[in-house]
Amino acid sequence: MTTTSNSSYIEPAPINKENPFESMMSRFHDAAQLLGLDEETYEVLKTPTKQVIVSLPVTMDNGKKKVFEGYRVIHSNILGPSKGGIRYDMGVTLDEVKALAAWMTWKCAVVDIPYGGGKGGIICNPRSMSVGELERLTRAYTSSLVDVFGPDQDIPAPDMGTGPREMAWLMDEYSRSQGRTVHAVVTGKPLVVGGSLGRTEATGRGVMVSTLASMAKLRLNPGRSTCAVQGFGNVGSISAQLIEERGIKICGISDHTGAYWNEKGIDINKAIGFRNGNGGILDGFKEAERITNEELLESKVDILIPAAKEDVITTANAHKIQAKLIVEGANGPTNAKADSIIYEKGISVVPDILANAGGVTVSYFEWVQNRLGYKWSEDRVNRRLDRIMQESYERVYKAAKDYNVSMRLAAYIVAIAKVSETLKYRGGY
Ligand code: NAD
Repeated sequence: MTTTSNSSYIEPAPINKENPFESMMSRFHDAAQLLGLDEETYEVLKTPTKQVIVSLPVTMDNGKKKVFEGYRVIHSNILGPSKGGIRYDMGVTLDEVKALAAWMTWKCAVVDIPYGGGKGGIICNPRSMSVGELERLTRAYTSSLVDVFGPDQDIPAPDMGTGPREMAWLMDEYSRSQGRTVHAVVTGKPLVVGGSLGRTEATGRGVMVSTLASMAKLRLNPGRSTCAVQGFGNVGSISAQLIEERGIKICGISDHTGAYWNEKGIDINKAIGFRNGNGGILDGFKEAERITNEELLESKVDILIPAAKEDVITTANAHKIQAKLIVEGANGPTNAKADSIIYEKGISVVPDILANAGGVTVSYFEWVQNRLGYKWSEDRVNRRLDRIMQESYERVYKAAKDYNVSMRLAAYIVAIAKVSETLKYRGGY
C-alpha cells in the first residue's frame, strides 16, 4: 500500500440519499483519508475518464420511431480495459451509471483482476418491449458505441434488465462493425457464442462463498442459521439456491411484485420453478405467506442478502434491521448514511464490491478463454472463482483488522491502494 500522506485538503464529502454517485464518493472519501491519499491521486481517482450519452432512435413494432437515451461511463482504465454491465431500466440516470462504473473499478481491484471500471445503461422498460424491439435497441446502442467498446478497451456484460441474449446481439453487432468475430468484446454471453461455463451462477456463487466465509468468522452454524433474500433475479435466486444447498434455511424471498415468508424455510428450487413458469415473477407464489418488502428487510433472520437494487437500506430502516450479517448481492443496497447505523448496531457487512465480485471474476475468465480460443470445465471455473473470492475476503478482513474499520471501508482501502499504486507506476502527463 504505497501512498503519500497529505489529507488536510480533502473537504468533507456530501452524502445525498438520492444520489448514488455521492453515496459511493463518501465511502471513497473516507477510505482515501484513512490511506492518506495525496491530492493529485484523489482527483484522478474520483473523476470518470469518459462519459458518453447516446440517443437511440428505434423502430417500434407499431412502425413508429421512439428515441431512447443511453449511457456508457468509463470510470477508470488504470488497471486495464474497463469492465462493467449494461442496465436496462426506467430509473437509469447518468449519476447512477457513474456510481456503478466507479464501483466496478473498486470491485475489480478488490478481487485483483486486471480491469478498470465502466458501466452502461439505457432508460427503457425491457418488460414492456418485444424481443424484436429489444434487439433493435441493443444493436443501436452497440453501433453508437463501437469506438468505445473493444476487447482491449471496454468490455460490457449483463446487469439489471439484460442477460446473455442481449450480450449475443452486442457481440454480433460489434463483430459486424469489425468484419470478424470478436468474442472477447463482451462477457456474459450464451455458451454457444463464447460464454463461459459457470458465468450465469458466478455472482450468486461468490455471494455464497463470502456468506460462508463471514459465517465462519462470526461462528454462525449453517445448519442453525436463517436467511432472507431481496430480489429474485439472477443474483438473488442463485444466491438463495446455493446458500440453501449449504444447509441454511431461506425464510424470506422477494421481487418487485412482493415478498414471501415461510418460517419453516422456502424450497428455493420450487420458487425458481414457479418464477420461470410465471413470466419471471413471484407474484402468486403459494408456498409462503405474503409480506411486504420492508418486512422482509427487517425480518428476524441471521443473514440478509439484498440482491435487487441500490438504496434499500437507508436511515429510515437501518435501525430496524435484525440480521447479524448483511451480504450485499446488489450494487449499493446500503445508503452511505445508513453505514454508521449498521456498524454501530454491530451488524457485519460483506460489502457489494467484495460480495458480488464473483460475476466480474468469471467474466474475466470468459474473456481469458475467448482470447485463448479455449474452454475451461465448469469445475475449473468454480474452483478458481472460489479461491479468488476466499482470498479476496481474507485480504479485506485483514485490512479491516489492520485499520480497525468496517469491512466496507476496508474493501475501499484495499481497492484504492491497489489502483493508486498502479497509477504511480504508470505515471501521466
Ligand atoms: P435481475 O434483473 O436478474 O433481477 C433483479 C431482481 O430484483 C428481480 O427479481 C426484480 O423483480 C427484483 N426487484 C427489483 N426491484 C425490487 C424491489 N423494489 N424490491 C424487491 N425486489 C426488486 O438483476 P440481477 O442481475 O440479479 O442484479 C441484481 C443486483 O445485483 C443489481 O444491483 C446488479 O447491479 C447487481 N449485480 C449483478 C451482477 C450479475 O452478474 N447479474 C453482478 C454484480 C452485481
